[in-house]
Amino acid sequence: MDPRSTFCPNLDCPARGQVGKGNIGVHSRKEHRYICHVCKKTFAETTGTVFYRLHKAKDLMTLVLTLLAYGCPLQAVVVTFDLDERTVKAWLTTAGQHGEQVHEHLVQQPRDLGHVPADEIRAKMQKAVVWLAMAIQVSTRLWLGGVASPQRDEAWLTDLIQRVRQCALCRPLLFCVDGWRAYMPAIQKVFRDALPSKLGRPHLRPWDHICIAQMVKQYAQGHVIGVVRRIVQGTSDQVEHLLHQTHGGHLINTAYSERLNATFRARLAQLVRRSRGLARQNATLQHGLYLIGTVYNFCTNHQSLRLLGIIGGHKWLPRTPPMAAGITDHCWTMLELLTYRVPLSKWTPPKRRGRISNATKQLILQWST
Ligand SMILES: [Zn+2]
Repeated sequence: MDPRSTFCPNLDCPARGQVGKGNIGVHSRKEHRYICHVCKKTFAETTGTVFYRLHKAKDLMTLVLTLLAYGCPLQAVVVTFDLDERTVKAWLTTAGQHGEQVHEHLVQQPRDLGHVPADEIRAKMQKAVVWLAMAIQVSTRLWLGGVASPQRDEAWLTDLIQRVRQCALCRPLLFCVDGWRAYMPAIQKVFRDALPSKLGRPHLRPWDHICIAQMVKQYAQGHVIGVVRRIVQGTSDQVEHLLHQTHGGHLINTAYSERLNATFRARLAQLVRRSRGLARQNATLQHGLYLIGTVYNFCTNHQSLRLLGIIGGHKWLPRTPPMAAGITDHCWTMLELLTYRVPLSKWTPPKRRGRISNATKQLILQWST
């Protein structure tokens, strides 16, 4: 137990989320509990991790989640470890929500994305079809997020584009998409900012330098017979420059997302069993998607990202997408991912009428500046 590397999780505590300020002490080594000397509350070592209030062994949960993240069928896990199906589903939900929080905190930060292929997958489940939309950044192979939905509609696509926007700086950006018409209005609707105005509804100004390129495959009897590439927004110079800059080659293509899609489709298909409600299947898929996505991002080295090592000049230095994007400096273990505590934002004093007491002033001075 190391009180210097942990923070107070109490949302009402002025010292919440702050590390290394000396306010945390060990409350009980036997029960693995810390105490915050500011709010006088105690909390478990596992607060904020997937192991919080876990009744089984941590190793077992880590093992089960690793298997699920790599596409082991849920039923196989249930039978092998003699667990209740509801327990395994609850673990999957916890891990998916945790993964989404880690993703929002570390990946959904503004960065210069450059070239982003977005794609939809039609995943065939037993007795149902589910649609998945995902996007990646080409230069770092960083998975930018995904959305599962029982319908292929515009709301679902807009949700994905909004997740991409959370990751984007207002810089030149190229989207490579398929021929679905909904992409263009969705991207135009999401990538715009409100201009300040004193009266009425603010004017919405679209971002400059957002390019959209389409790649439409033509099929005959189930085989691809040709590919049509076209630019639907932006100039060919801009598109070429962005493709060149992000090592995406000179042709518009969605090859980067296709391999990723195949991996996700195979792994996700194992999480859902027939005779479950579609809404529940969908929630399970969304959680599974984020478990698989964060494991893909943080715990998997990618061959295309490896660098020539410094030692002797011939050793390869393996890298994960977040390493290439400068988010982390090493490949995480599964345990690191599952125990990563997403930091809380700094405390803001509650709004009160009248004069602020000296004690509150002191707290504000010490913890919220
Ligand atoms: Zn506290």
